[in-house]
This record gives sequence, C-alpha cells and structure tokens, in this order.
Amino acid sequence: MGKILRAACSECGFEKDIFEGGGINDCNLDAILTELSENGQKILYEAVQNGAVQISINRIPCSCVSCGNIYAIPIVNYTLNGNTHTVSGQCPECNEEKYASAINCPNCKKIITLEETGIWD
Ligand SMILES: [Zn+2]
Ligand SMILES: [Zn+2]
Repeated sequence: MGKILRAACSECGFEKDIFEGGGINDCNLDAILTELSENGQKILYEAVQNGAVQISINRIPCSCVSCGNIYAIPIVNYTLNGNTHTVSGQCPECNEEKYASAINCPNCKKIITLEETGIWD
C-alpha cells in the first residue's frame, strides 16, 4: 500500500496529489517497466534476462530540477549476481532524470510540506 500525499502551496494555491510508496501491481514487471524511461527499461529488461531477482519498486516524492514538476519518482531495485542495483524513472512532464528531494512549489518556489491525505491500493 502507498500513501497519498497532498502538496499544497499556501502562497499561490497550487495543489497536487502525489502517490508515494508501492501499489498492488508492483510485482508485475510489465507495469514496472512502463514507469521507467526507455533507457531504464532497457537496463531492467536486460537485468531480468540475466537473472535479476527481488525486483521491487518504490516511489519517492521529489521535484524535477528542470521544469519544477512535483511527482513521485519510481525507484526500482533489483538483485543481480548478489549485488543490488537501482534504476530510477524520470519526470513525466519533461523526461528529466535528475530530481531534488526538496519540494518547492512549481509556480512560486515556496517550500511545500507534504500532507498525508489517504492510502492508495
Ligand atoms: Zn506556490
Ligand atoms: Zn520536469
């Protein structure tokens, strides 16, 4: 189960719900692949072909360093030959892969504190 977090800016009224954590489809590799970039999909797909195990996905609230979009970036971990590897997703708005864990309002740049409003899946 994941948490629904609300990013609400007290300055300009911006609001967005962010789906953090993991959901019910997260053991489905095809579903996981759709959340990664083309490059990330390639890395994970090849890892699976090579025998990757313990594939798990988590989503972490962040803001995009390019466009400022607030979203939950998918972070996929897997184990291959005894080592843990990580592939992360990208900004759904601009495809940027770099992100910041500080959440700032995309409109006015004010720092936003996320509030838990519910649970998904
Ligand atoms: Zn704002
Ligand atoms: Zn972006």
